[in-house]
Amino acid sequence: MLEAVGLSKSFGQLEILSEIDLRVMPQELVFLIGPSGSGKSTLLRCCNRLEEATSGDILFEGVNIGSPKVNVNLLRTKIGMVFQSFNLYPHMTALENVMLALRKVAGKGKAEAREIGLAMLARVGLAERCEHYPGQLSGGQQQRVAIARTLALEPKVVLFDEPTSALDPELVGGVLNTMRELRESGMTMVVVSHEMRFAREAADRVIFMADGRIVEQDTAEEIFERPRHPRLREFLSQIN
Ligand code: ADP
Ligand code: MG
Repeated sequence: MLEAVGLSKSFGQLEILSEIDLRVMPQELVFLIGPSGSGKSTLLRCCNRLEEATSGDILFEGVNIGSPKVNVNLLRTKIGMVFQSFNLYPHMTALENVMLALRKVAGKGKAEAREIGLAMLARVGLAERCEHYPGQLSGGQQQRVAIARTLALEPKVVLFDEPTSALDPELVGGVLNTMRELRESGMTMVVVSHEMRFAREAADRVIFMADGRIVEQDTAEEIFERPRHPRLREFLSQIN
């Protein structure tokens, strides 16, 4: 579904990603872990061209996304992204936030956008809140609106960059439930998160990154129970 081949990314002289090879299969949930600054966000951002790779390729369904023929706006609907900060428009209701993407990006008419928007908000458990403004919603509910907005564009893959890191602990569970349901629906997902219990439960594969490289990758059980690389052992001992 999504593949990085020899992907490197530098900012100026500084190499942030070095020769990353990553393969995400359809319906797989790949978890990315690693210390702050190891390049996790940059890797996700390269995957939908929020950043341009310095060298190497990214293939989405076999097509090189770096090709000049690729429509970047369309690509970003197919490779959706959910950020730590939900980036909702505060003066628009939950429904209007979801509808905006459908109208502007997908070119849907008002009635259709409304119908899809309501269905997506229902899917993330917020049917009752569609007329609420972001300020009237909890952080967890706002993040679920942001997820609904991404799902409304019918992505093939969703990249999550620390979707629960900005939330109070009691609000994390609702967002993880939404992600769980998405996974059960067969969505292909790449998740950067510090929720290690969720990784154990939901991840098909866990990838540990350090210094812009993939250091170790395996099933969650192997990564957490039998970490091999000293960097991974050190990382796990710090977060537990
Ligand atoms: P992570 O998400 O694992 O914490 P990031 O991908 O955000 O790591 O960052 C990796 C490194 O790249 C960090 O050292 C960060 O300072 C640097 N970096 C990220 N974005 C930029 C940028 N736009 N310009 C310069 N350096 C950047
Ligand atoms: Mg990051």
